[in-house]
Amino acid sequence: MTEKRNLIIFMGPPGSGKGTLSQLCVQHFGWKQLSTGLLCRKHITEKTEIGQQIDFSIKSGKLVSDSLIIEMVKNWLVNPEQNKSDIILDGFPRNVPQAEALCETLAQMFPFFSIAIFRLFISHEAVLQRLLNRFVCENKDCQAVYSATEVNLQPKVAGRCNLCLMKLIKRSDDQIDTIRDRLETYRIHEDALLSFFEKRGLSIREINVENQLEKIFQQFRHLITGSVL
Ligand code: AMP
Repeated sequence: MTEKRNLIIFMGPPGSGKGTLSQLCVQHFGWKQLSTGLLCRKHITEKTEIGQQIDFSIKSGKLVSDSLIIEMVKNWLVNPEQNKSDIILDGFPRNVPQAEALCETLAQMFPFFSIAIFRLFISHEAVLQRLLNRFVCENKDCQAVYSATEVNLQPKVAGRCNLCLMKLIKRSDDQIDTIRDRLETYRIHEDALLSFFEKRGLSIREINVENQLEKIFQQFRHLITGSVL
């Protein structure tokens, strides 16, 4: 029998630090991270057929079609390299149809995964400031995140990634109007998604992410040690 594994969902608006927290979990616990945003950007940089279809949605801060995203997630999950450890979903599911598809896929193909949900809290203003000051590594296989203002997220060499030394750039969707649209999209789906999880009997743990990164990670560690994990 396959041993039980955890599938962690980080729910939070753009800029709440889902990717940064996921990276810390990858480094400290050896979990796998699936960031649908990262996968989408990789398709665009590689100019795949999917990349061409989703380019406009990403640049304008709109959600990519559910069918495309669900297909991407399923393809990622079936890779035995990915599903043999605990998994973090960063940026998925983002609405009820995606959550339904996820629960169905897990029930049919991966019944050994138990879902643990963490909701990241942050004010609108703090998110705006974070995203306007965010830089990412241009290397599509890295995409590490940096900040011009947050001390713990600054590169060692100005304008260069600490991990692969490639150039740091702004994400095309980190523009004020697009950020506002992305936040609004998140807000529209948030309540329905939370009630979907609650109806399924899944508990949702909350983390205040308007804090220093070390403290946020400490709080997360504390929550997971006292939980089902
Ligand atoms: P993120 O890196 O999570 O901020 O995602 C960047 C962009 O990728 C989003 O604004 C969407 O255009 C697209 N995207 C990422 N995840 C999803 C998803 N689960 N459903 C639809 N679109 C997504």
